[in-house]
Amino acid sequence: MSAHPVLYEGKAKILYATDDPDVLLTHFKDDATAFNAQKRGSIVGKGEMNCAISSHLFQLLEAQGIATHWLSSPAPNEMKVRSVKILPLEVVVRNIAAGSLCQQTGLPLGMVLQEPLVEFYYKNDALGDPLLTLDRLLLLELATADQVEALRTKALQIDRLLSDFFQKCGITLVDFKLEFGLDRQQNILLADEISPDTCRLWNQADTDPAQRVLDKDRFRHDLGNVEAAYRQVLERVLAQPVQPQGEAML
Ligand code: UDP
Repeated sequence: MSAHPVLYEGKAKILYATDDPDVLLTHFKDDATAFNAQKRGSIVGKGEMNCAISSHLFQLLEAQGIATHWLSSPAPNEMKVRSVKILPLEVVVRNIAAGSLCQQTGLPLGMVLQEPLVEFYYKNDALGDPLLTLDRLLLLELATADQVEALRTKALQIDRLLSDFFQKCGITLVDFKLEFGLDRQQNILLADEISPDTCRLWNQADTDPAQRVLDKDRFRHDLGNVEAAYRQVLERVLAQPVQPQGEAML
């Protein structure tokens, strides 16, 4: 564990300073929360599993030209990242209707969307992370119009890359949440984590609506076998190389 000052402690991670002002250390915790922290618990081994899954996916995305904050993983539940100013937005991409999309629109669970849907939520616990309109986002100056367009383009690129990758793992990427930050030069870097905490992942080998769930919905809805589901994702993700063979970037 780091002897450096804690900069921030969130629900699933602790952020430490390092000797280098441009580098931070993230410690992934086993703590789990859901429904805006109204439900709390712990998933044994989650910190290490999410750190390993995220590290693998960030490296995969970097290899495909997506700039991320990932630098290294010095310990199983630790990730060194570039220091960025996080934009107060949760960028959600959906390929299949689930969760709040179904609750708020009445679309049936599991409906395949014709086109991926990109949504922006206000990252604000006190307000319950509300869904934003573009005009509200601009009114609150959470990002500029150009940044919003860049975020949308990046989110869709990431969706294509991750959907293809999870397909090779026998997993359907239903939806996921991304966070982005700005470095000193105002470059937009993908930040935070990509893990079963932040994605809906369905096992393609299972059609049963409860059995197929390999993500935090098992914790949210008390479906049981949470650790085993996260471990399934970990094993399948790590079995796939970061860089597809024959596609090395020149
Ligand atoms: N999500 C997340 N953090 C949040 C809210 C959502 O990681 O604070 C992820 C969630 O795991 C899912 C996607 O974003 O993969 C879409 O979530 P949804 O809006 O359906 O939210 P829910 O009400 O189901 O949490």
